[in-house]
Amino acid sequence: MFDDTIVAIASAYGKGAVSVIRLSGEDAIKIVCKVFEGKDLSKAKSHTISYGRIKDKKKDLILDEVLVSVFRTPRSFTREDVVEIGCHGGVFVTNRILELLLENGARLAEPGEFTKRAFLNGRIDLTQAEAVMDIIEARSSEAMQLANHGLLGDVKKLIVAFRKEILSAIAMIEVNIDYPEYDDAVVMTNALIKPMVKAMIEKMDEILEMASTVRIIREGIKTAIIGRPNVGKSSLLNALLREDRAIVTEIAGTTRDTIEGTLQLGGLTLHLVDTAGIRSTSDQIEKIGVERSRKMIAEAEIILLVLDNSNPLDETDLELLEMSKKKNRIVIVNKIDLVSKIDMSKLDDVLMISATKEGDVRLLEEKIRHHTKINEWNPRDATYLGNARHVSKMKEARKSLEDALSSIGNNMPVDVVNIDLVSAWNRLGEIIGEDKGDSLLNELFAKFCLGK
Ligand code: GDP
Repeated sequence: MFDDTIVAIASAYGKGAVSVIRLSGEDAIKIVCKVFEGKDLSKAKSHTISYGRIKDKKKDLILDEVLVSVFRTPRSFTREDVVEIGCHGGVFVTNRILELLLENGARLAEPGEFTKRAFLNGRIDLTQAEAVMDIIEARSSEAMQLANHGLLGDVKKLIVAFRKEILSAIAMIEVNIDYPEYDDAVVMTNALIKPMVKAMIEKMDEILEMASTVRIIREGIKTAIIGRPNVGKSSLLNALLREDRAIVTEIAGTTRDTIEGTLQLGGLTLHLVDTAGIRSTSDQIEKIGVERSRKMIAEAEIILLVLDNSNPLDETDLELLEMSKKKNRIVIVNKIDLVSKIDMSKLDDVLMISATKEGDVRLLEEKIRHHTKINEWNPRDATYLGNARHVSKMKEARKSLEDALSSIGNNMPVDVVNIDLVSAWNRLGEIIGEDKGDSLLNELFAKFCLGK
């Protein structure tokens, strides 16, 4: 428990029907009592709402008519006394109430400090704290569902189960080492440990394999549309976005700057960028265009390379095909409604479409979904990790288990194998915050918004 009381505006900044100002800490109720005119909040039961007014008593000035919710320790978000003041949603009035609470003994909360307290007071683990943020940031129903899994503690359960299994082996090995005279304890041999470690690595591989798909669901996927001028990139972008953001004209190179848009594709968020600026009118500019494409190819996670069915492949087409061949890419042959002049023998696995036909764009959408493996993902099946921090810790734990396997392969004594098992156990512990270093926590919670 902390000895100071924090306060922050918990609702979004700006005008709205209501604003919420939240306090947490030992003196939360006492501080609000000092500025509240209504029933005696010090006697208010937990989980009740009281009607009244906020008053600057020194100036004898009423600031607003409010509803005050009281949540008493430990049945609150932070496990401390929490008070939420619902006032009218004006920027000025909300700030004035906040100032008044600060004058009366509360301290302005750091970003994420409420959630940090919930974690440090043991109400939630680290994965649940991170899920709070994921819910706020969710951009699709799938991402929200994923975050809710985290919030309900599913990630924690998954990690706890892994750790429990490792711990049972560690405990057994340590009993063997510390009390060799106990003959009723199972003697842990490498032969007994090996299948357990192998099975665990397999399970981790399954989770890690889906991790990139899960990350895509959470964060979206960077998608670049590349191709030489006039092949129909902007038309395609517009068709995907279903709005006229990119200017489509018949003069090559009208889309001068990169054009961006975000697209929701049945649970998948695509951050689209159209590489504009490739113009064939001058060699110099053409070069810049190709260079820009090269940069975008490097940065994007999925490439939509557009070719023109009504024209033969040229140098730029071939260069772009070569540049993107190692990436996750979809080669699109556009304008199939026109007479074909393209040399198809130089291409394989292409999607033939007409950007101007809506049905065709749907084919592309389906192909993109297929490329991201999103169709294989079913949140009801299992718990997957999508948070980059969780994934990297699980990879470290997996590496320790691999080390354990190779020690077993080299016939090392069990106490040497045990070192790797302990290391795997520790890495997994870091996911749920068992091994909480201050710097990790500060960095993590600083990403939250104020009042959360
Ligand atoms: P960009 O330079 O690659 O962005 O190409 P645009 O999207 O500006 O398209 C160039 C021209 O091709 C425009 O006149 C479009 O209307 C036309 N266009 C794009 N897609 C198709 C298609 O599928 N069929 C036909 N016939 N014309 C298309």
